[in-house]
Amino acid sequence: MQSLPFLPIIVFLSGLALGSFLNVVIYRLPRGKSLIRPSSTCPSCGKPIRFYDNIPVISFLVLRRRCRHCGEKISWRYPLVELLTAILFTLVASTYGFSLQSFGYILLTAMLIAITFIDLEHFIIPDYVTIPGAILGLILAVFSGHIAILNAVIGLLVGGVSLLLIGVIGDKLFKKESMGGGDIKLSALLGAYLGWQQVIFVLVCASFLGAVIGLAGILISKRIKETRLIPFGPFLALGALVSIFFGQYLIDLYVNTFLR
Ligand SMILES: [Zn+2]
Repeated sequence: MQSLPFLPIIVFLSGLALGSFLNVVIYRLPRGKSLIRPSSTCPSCGKPIRFYDNIPVISFLVLRRRCRHCGEKISWRYPLVELLTAILFTLVASTYGFSLQSFGYILLTAMLIAITFIDLEHFIIPDYVTIPGAILGLILAVFSGHIAILNAVIGLLVGGVSLLLIGVIGDKLFKKESMGGGDIKLSALLGAYLGWQQVIFVLVCASFLGAVIGLAGILISKRIKETRLIPFGPFLALGALVSIFFGQYLIDLYVNTFLR
């Protein structure tokens, strides 16, 4: 990144712009609406949002989080997704440099953000994201070589089958469906992207986070207590981010501490 001093700024601004598009995906995809047409409208009054009211983060602040036409409050999710995308893109680019792997991980991060916010609201993980994502993971392994293609294929299988088994055990324990098909496909996607060792790490990490935060959620949230529904997608996404930034370091640490 030293040779290209403006790159982090360009990546950050691209992240803000793509985050703005991810907001459209998060709102429209689960509602079965087109991602392209019409251009952005207010979810409350349906009036078109002009370009000067659609500038990531800034418009939210200038409009004091209200629609210019109907005055309805704008969700915090909009600037949050934009900033989160920009920050994660910049972190990926500064970790992996100007490379194909970096570009692949940036796309993965974008998918994970969309999946997280859709799953939190609707308890679904759309196939429109996971299936192309898994294929993209395999293609990336072929062209970038960050992991061997065989490792990506095994990762896809290990990711999918492991979560399928966790789901079967969970169904027996809780006497209801505990893991959705979307979770299984997401886990397979992560295996294709990160390889079989890292996807096992992601599953351990996600299960741990899910158990801790899930228990806390049952104590705090009425909705969770009554429905016992906790989306697993956000935990898989969180585990994947830990793997992207610290995975190799943690696996080396484990091997050096326990297996020597
Ligand atoms: Zn409005």
